[in-house]
Amino acid sequence: MTDCLFCKIRDGEIPSEIVYENEHVLAFNDINPVAPVHILIIPKIHISTLNDLEKDHTQTMGELILASKKIAELKGFSEDGYRTVFNCNENGQQTVFHIHLHLLGERLMSWPPG
Ligand code: AMP
Ligand code: ZN
Repeated sequence: MTDCLFCKIRDGEIPSEIVYENEHVLAFNDINPVAPVHILIIPKIHISTLNDLEKDHTQTMGELILASKKIAELKGFSEDGYRTVFNCNENGQQTVFHIHLHLLGERLMSWPPG
């Protein structure tokens, strides 16, 4: 997709601090972190929202979740714990319409979320 912020980050047209990458996913630091570690994990293919998921995306979405586990290990907070979040559309407060998994770590989270 041509006018997508995260496709541009994937293509290197907009700079980012990449923390992990494989064939399926790219992970980079959130520009406006809400936790000491706040990483966004995106699929390399453009999918706008959770509502657009198809059966064909099963592997890609599994890779996103596996990447969150690997990054938590790399960053050293697996055992302390962490939070992963997908926001969807208006009520979910999604602002960038390329699916991304937020990975939040290194602080105690609250529940319910705001
Ligand atoms: P969401 O509200 O779930 O759509 O999350 C979008 C996230 O993208 C927010 O946490 C933003 O801070 C983050 N963000 C926006 N622009 C950039 C950027 N250029 N680089 C890194 N993160 C960004
Ligand atoms: Zn995109």
